[in-house]
Amino acid sequence: MALTLSKKAQAVKPSSTLAITAKAKELKAQGIDVVGFGAGEPDFNTPENINNAAIKAIHDGFTKYTPASGIDELKKAICDKFANFNKLQYQPNQIVISNGGKHSLTNIFTAILNPGDEVIIPAPFWLSYPEIVKLADGVPVILRCEKSQNYKLTAKQLEEACTEKTKALILNTPNNPTGMVYSREELQAIADVVVKKDIYVVSDEMYENLIYGGAEHVSIGSLGEEIYKRTITCSGVAKSYAMTGWRIGYTGSSAEIAKLMGSVQSHQTSNPNSIAQKATVEALSGPQVTVGIMKNEFNKRRQYMYERLCKMPLIDSVEPKGAFYSFIDVSKLLDKSYKGEKVETVGKLADILIEDYNVAVIPCGDFGFDDHIRLSYAISLEQIQKGLDRIERFINDLA
Ligand code: PLP
Repeated sequence: MALTLSKKAQAVKPSSTLAITAKAKELKAQGIDVVGFGAGEPDFNTPENINNAAIKAIHDGFTKYTPASGIDELKKAICDKFANFNKLQYQPNQIVISNGGKHSLTNIFTAILNPGDEVIIPAPFWLSYPEIVKLADGVPVILRCEKSQNYKLTAKQLEEACTEKTKALILNTPNNPTGMVYSREELQAIADVVVKKDIYVVSDEMYENLIYGGAEHVSIGSLGEEIYKRTITCSGVAKSYAMTGWRIGYTGSSAEIAKLMGSVQSHQTSNPNSIAQKATVEALSGPQVTVGIMKNEFNKRRQYMYERLCKMPLIDSVEPKGAFYSFIDVSKLLDKSYKGEKVETVGKLADILIEDYNVAVIPCGDFGFDDHIRLSYAISLEQIQKGLDRIERFINDLA
C-alpha cells in the first residue's frame, strides 16, 4: 500500500480568514502599520469577574477531568440562559458542552449525518460550514441569497431546494459575514418548511448578544413544539463575552442527539477545559454589565463604519444589524484598473489593499460570494477610521 493520505482531509480548504489575519500579523511584526479588518474576535479583554472565576477554579484544584459532555453546574447555567434569553426549554441531559462553537458544530454533524446526506447552507455563509459538513460525510448544498433579499434565505427558496436527500439546514442569525438578523416572521416561515419537509435545522446563534438598533434575537427552536424537536441550537461564549481563547461552545438538542454527541466527544477530546467551564458558569450566570458595554462600543463603530461606507463611491452595503461585520459589494471595483491592470477578483483586491495600502480585508469567495468583502469592526474606532481612509484612497486611485 502506497503512503497515500486521506482524500477527505485533502478535500478540506484551509481557512482563508486565518491566512489573511496571519499575513496582517506578519506585516505588523515587520513594523508596518497595518489596519486589520479581518478580526473575527472582540478586541476587548475577558471581563475580570470571569477571569477571577477561572483563577479560583485553579486554586480550588478544579483541574481534573470532568464528565465528557461537561459539568452539571454549567449545564444548568446553560439551561437557565436558554430559558431566559432564548425562550427555549432544555434539561441538562439535552446539553453538550464542547471545545468551542466550531467543535459543537462538528459534533452535531457527526451525530446526525450519514454519507451522502445533504445539508442546505444559505450563502453568504461562515466559511467553515461546508468543510465541517464534508468532514462528517455530508454534501453541502449552497443556496445563494442575494443582496435584494438582504442576503437572507426565504422559506420559498428552502422549500424549492429540499430533496429527499436533504437532512438539515444551517441557519445563522445574527449572521457572519453579513451582519443580518432574521426576524420572527422570517424564521416562522422557514420553520414551517423545516417541519413540513421533516428536516433538522442547525441554528448557529453564536452572535446572539450582539444585536443593535432595536432588532431582536429570536431562536427558531422557540417557535413551536414541532420546530423545537427538529432544532439543534448552538452557541458559545467566544463572541459575546470576549472569550475566544477559552474554547467553550454548547448545544441544546433532543436528549437522543445530545447522547450521541456526548459519546463521540468522549472518544475524541473528552471534556472541554475544566477551568474554562467554571469561567463560563460565571460568564452566563454572573453580572452582564460588561456585555452591554462591549455591545455599545460595537454599535458606535458599526454606525460610524456604515455611514462612511455609504458615502464611498462604487461600493454598496446593507446596514448590518448584528455581530461585528460589514459585508460589502465590491463588484464595481472588480471592473476597474489598478496600476494599468484590471482588479478582476476579490482575492487580488485584498492583495492590493494589504500590500499597497496596508489594510487587511476578508475576500468573501470562501463565504460563497466572490464579489464581496467583509470588514470587521471588532477593532478600535481610530483604527476603523484610518483603515476606511485608506480604502477610500484606494477606490479613488482606481481608473
Ligand atoms: N459560528 C460562527 C458564525 C462563527 O463566526 C464562529 C467563529 O468565528 C463560530 C461559530 C465558532 O466560534 P468558536 O469556535 O470560536 O466558539
